[in-house]
Parts: sequence; C-alpha cells; structure tokens
Amino acid sequence: MADDCLFCKIIAGEIPATKVFENEDVFSFADLNPQAPVHVLVVPKKHVRDLAELGADPDTAGALVAGIRAVAEQVGVSDFRTVFNTGAGAQQTVFHVHAHVLAGRPFEWPPG
Ligand code: AMP
Ligand code: ZN
Repeated sequence: MADDCLFCKIIAGEIPATKVFENEDVFSFADLNPQAPVHVLVVPKKHVRDLAELGADPDTAGALVAGIRAVAEQVGVSDFRTVFNTGAGAQQTVFHVHAHVLAGRPFEWPPG
C-alpha cells in the first residue's frame, strides 16, 4: 500500500466504495462520477502507478486483464469500452493504475 493513495485506501476498506468484484489480485468498484450506465474501475491490489509501470510487471498486468474479463462477465456486458489514462496530460488523476470499464450506451470513435 502506498501512502496517500486513494485507491489503496479503497482496497484496504478505509474509504467506502461500491464493490463490484474482488479476487486475490484485483479489486473493482463503481466510479463515483459515472460516464456511462456501467462505469466500473478495475485496479490491481498491488500499488502500480500507471500503465507504463504495469508493462514492466507482466504478472500483475495479466491479473488485471483477467479481472476486466471477470467484471464484464459479472455485470453482464459483452461490448464495453476500456480506458487507461496514463499521465496528467492524458487526464490521469489517480496515480494507481486503473481500467475504466464503460458500457450501456453508444460509443464513438475516435474518442475525445
Ligand atoms: P482517471 O482520471 O483516469 O485517473 O480516473 C480516476 C477516476 O476515479 C475518475 O473517473 C473518478 O470519477 C474516480 N474516482 C475518484 N474518486 C473516487 C472514489 N472515491 N470512488 C470511486 N471512484 C472515484
Ligand atoms: Zn495505490
């Protein structure tokens, strides 16, 4: 657990969240400011800063992708948008890597 990390505190149960899924490696909860009818965040329990750092940790990366699959199955969606914002310039605001899983409305391409 990293000091002063919001998502580490959510994983530890120190800050409340609406849990969607949990296993040994990942934790998933509803986004506080949903951008779609389904908007769930999926995070590794291990504190990893961002997707670039996650790329150096294939075990954790694989666990996170498996967690995304499990979350999609649990919420019952086969079509979903997955977003990783990496760095402040790409709108990352919480520096504990997280996949946004969005579904339940039409999506456009290219993204904004
Ligand atoms: P990002 O901007 O990609 O770093 O995404 C951070 C996400 O965390 C945003 O979509 C926020 O709405 C969400 N968020 C911030 N605080 C909380 C919280 N306490 N519980 C759930 N989601 C949160
Ligand atoms: Zn953290």
